[in-house]
Amino acid sequence: MSEIKLPDRHCPLCKLKTIQSTLSINFDRSRLYYCPNCGSFSISLMAFYFTPIYTDKGLCSKLSYFIRHNATEEKPVNILKDNYEDIVKSVILPSVSMQLENFLLWFGDNSKYTLNTVDGYTAYLPAFIGCNNPVEIIQLLDELWKKGFIEMENPTTAPLREREFFDAFCGHLTSEGIEKIEEIRKRISPLNFDITVATIEPILQQKESSKIEVKGSCRLNLNRLLIGDKQIEFDNKVALDGILKAIVAFLNTKGGTILIGALEQNKFTLEQMKSISYKSFEDYYLIGILIENTSTDNYELRLRSLIAEHISKELVELIDITFPEFSEFTFCKIVINKASHKWYYLDKEKFYVRNGNRSDLLYGEDADSYKKRNPR
Ligand SMILES: [Zn+2]
Repeated sequence: MSEIKLPDRHCPLCKLKTIQSTLSINFDRSRLYYCPNCGSFSISLMAFYFTPIYTDKGLCSKLSYFIRHNATEEKPVNILKDNYEDIVKSVILPSVSMQLENFLLWFGDNSKYTLNTVDGYTAYLPAFIGCNNPVEIIQLLDELWKKGFIEMENPTTAPLREREFFDAFCGHLTSEGIEKIEEIRKRISPLNFDITVATIEPILQQKESSKIEVKGSCRLNLNRLLIGDKQIEFDNKVALDGILKAIVAFLNTKGGTILIGALEQNKFTLEQMKSISYKSFEDYYLIGILIENTSTDNYELRLRSLIAEHISKELVELIDITFPEFSEFTFCKIVINKASHKWYYLDKEKFYVRNGNRSDLLYGEDADSYKKRNPR
């Protein structure tokens, strides 16, 4: 009898092939997986072979759904013989109507919102849709079909649920389906904000990061005012090279927050700061936005029209602009939601992504491979 071991060519939960895995050196002989469908997780040999995980597709679906929503590449979910039951118990699956919406969105993501055919595998889908097992996937497909949102292309006339179990299907959205997706997106996108930073202090305390950017101004050329010939000059180039670039990068990565109205202390000397009023806080000089010589209403209008002109007109729901006060200054806080269904460009061609605390411009192959690695 050959020695039992964990699969190294496919995902032990959703069976997706060609995934990456590495054997850990732990005594429990667990293996670490990076599954594009489930996410990052490790599972021990004992958990895989000596629990129902090995045979029970429903259990695998729940674990997969849990990993998809809880793991990051740095923090994989560890599945062990004595914790898998707790994990499964903690999973609360979405309601059937949510599952149907998730399924429609999946069709949309995979067909790029066209009538193009999409191939699906019932084993991979529970992790994404949030149902119990592949059999339920077939019932959901049937429901979407009955409602007229999709058309199936497998040669069939019988309702899907009356047919034998199948593990692959092809189908496509109908124009009603595409309309329905639009409706769902409009309803859910304002709620998608995963940014919890509510006040200014924590933003300034945690410094710039992959989700936080601090800027001195929107259009006022501060270098000229503080370091150069001390003249006040408003220039859209300042916005293009600063705020607008960061907005595009956040849209194309995981979303983020931009705070306008503070300068990093290491960029200006005290002597240079003399010509304006400021207060020191943490590593910043607080200067606020009123230095840009406009009301907050006009500031927001200006900002929104810059965004519409240089990025896209359809971003209203993805971008939230507020004007919090702190330490006698008024700031502008822009919360940018991750754009989950398309890519954005600055001036139609510049593709930025967030990389640590920088917004990087990606060209050609680099941009293509980024998009492939982070499908949306
Ligand atoms: Zn998987």
